[in-house]
Amino acid sequence: MAGDGHMGQGSISPTAMMRGVGASPGLAMGPAFLVDRRRVKTPKRHIADEEVENEIARFDAALASSHEQLERVKRKLSEREGEDHFHIIEAHQLILHDEHMVDPTRRRIREEKVNAEWALRRTVEEIKTVFDAIEEDYFRERRSDIDFVGDRILRNLLGVDVGTAMPPPGAVIVAHDLSPADTAHLHRASAVAFVTDVGGKTSHSAILARAFEIPSVVGLENVTEHVGNGDMLIVDGLRGEVLIRPTQVQIDDYRQRATRHQTFVRELLKNRDLPAETTDGARVRLYANVELTEEVPSALEHGAEGIGLYRTEFLFLDRTDLPKEEEHYLHARGVLKRLHPFPATFRTFDLGGDKVVPFAALGDEANPALGLRSIRLCLRERKLFKTQLRGLLRASVHGRMRLMFPMISGVGELREAKEVLEEARAELTREGIAFDTKLPVGIMVEMPAAVMVADLLAKECDFLSVGTNDLIQYALAIDRVNEHVSYLYHPLHPAILRMVRYVVDAGHAAGVRVGMCGEMAGEPMFGLVLLGLGLDELSMNSTAIPVVKSVLRGTTLQQAKELAERALSMSTAQEIEAMVQETMSKLYPEELLTAAGEMT
Ligand code: PEP
Ligand code: MG
Repeated sequence: MAGDGHMGQGSISPTAMMRGVGASPGLAMGPAFLVDRRRVKTPKRHIADEEVENEIARFDAALASSHEQLERVKRKLSEREGEDHFHIIEAHQLILHDEHMVDPTRRRIREEKVNAEWALRRTVEEIKTVFDAIEEDYFRERRSDIDFVGDRILRNLLGVDVGTAMPPPGAVIVAHDLSPADTAHLHRASAVAFVTDVGGKTSHSAILARAFEIPSVVGLENVTEHVGNGDMLIVDGLRGEVLIRPTQVQIDDYRQRATRHQTFVRELLKNRDLPAETTDGARVRLYANVELTEEVPSALEHGAEGIGLYRTEFLFLDRTDLPKEEEHYLHARGVLKRLHPFPATFRTFDLGGDKVVPFAALGDEANPALGLRSIRLCLRERKLFKTQLRGLLRASVHGRMRLMFPMISGVGELREAKEVLEEARAELTREGIAFDTKLPVGIMVEMPAAVMVADLLAKECDFLSVGTNDLIQYALAIDRVNEHVSYLYHPLHPAILRMVRYVVDAGHAAGVRVGMCGEMAGEPMFGLVLLGLGLDELSMNSTAIPVVKSVLRGTTLQQAKELAERALSMSTAQEIEAMVQETMSKLYPEELLTAAGEMT
């Protein structure tokens, strides 16, 4: 922690500044609200016949305790807050006693002879699956309430501490870690910012915070030890800083910066319906990266012309069982209908690596990033793969779908993946089930090997999308989840720029479109270089879309090409970065170049 020398009202609570990773841009101020949302593990145990009644009684007692705790929260709220939050708690009480929560859990204990915790977990998963398939926002938002209530009952069963209070509106949430469900729930409770000890820019919660436009700083290591409930905090998601117990001067400065930033973002959004087009008429498609269906409205509000990367694996990370074909179908259909007439690019499962799931028992891999992940896992677990493909194919008639395979290393693997797709198509045809026979099938280029054979790959697929997160990891040999080598992460490294150029040229020579969907695509500082390299599509977090669009609309293709050529003629990442930064800061206001957060 960096004390900044200012002392607050007394020496007991000095002003301090902590620096982490700006995970979601924007500024906010509010009183700290500490939450302990560390995930509790769900134990699984088979029980004997004579234990059944006792297990049901434990479940009933946990329901009663949960109800009582929520009553206490309600009493507190009615003294303090308005109606809004009262309703949320009442909704939680209804869920708690709902027959869909209670009956299946009791039945599982009785029939499957499992402990209450496990029975409850299965019930919660089942309810969430049903909610996922519903196309109205209202119901899908209830998904996080189900999680919240399920977690409360589980904690009561386990005797783990349950936070009884709801954050007051306007609070800054301080936590060791937050699950995506917590993030969604706390967003509904009108939290204004998130700060956490752990986490990275690409964590699921960070991605959601960006989608909800809640400023967030993660990876602060021990912020929970330095902040007390009620301490005033200023969260600067642009710079990745948190000011603890700020001075009046700092508060005044924050207010000015926050107002400036809000006005700036509002102004930027005015370009929502304008094309991402340079002044000399070059057109780039700006797409959104999406992980959860909840993000689709935000993508459209920010002017996305479609989804360039739907990370389907995120839908199933918290589950104990395999998703069924029908679930894949319903999910994809929902997304396509909401997005119509824009296209949605569904990437098939990219599991393994740092995305571990209980149902794909991978064992302990010494090198998970180089292990049995992504398309390799799918080609080994063909049934799992085909189930997803069948579901997606069936949904393809409900909108404009594109299908994308991740982690393809070469033509052999692409053909193998297409073979499974072909099998799925043949099955559906035999069964008389409709699907889009012209469904575009593309691949992610995220391995140096794929770059080198991009010309061959481009001849056998309909589009290419450069995944820079992994491409940089593999090309520069830097584990993307290891913060000790993050100083080596240089998207403008000459090797990376040459690779992107090579893929673009190879794709265009074969007559296919080439996009980019790694984090690099949403960085305004790189906008001109990427345009100059010839990319047709850029897919990014929704909030970055108006920013990147402004960059593109403020230039000519010629200017962008010249910048890219100059960059390609240089020898080191540092020289290129300095040159790009200098050029960009002459052309654009600093506020625009830093609007998506610090340069990664
Ligand atoms: C990438 O690797 O660049 C990418 C977009 O995929 P993910 O971040 O999901 O690995
Ligand atoms: Mg990847």
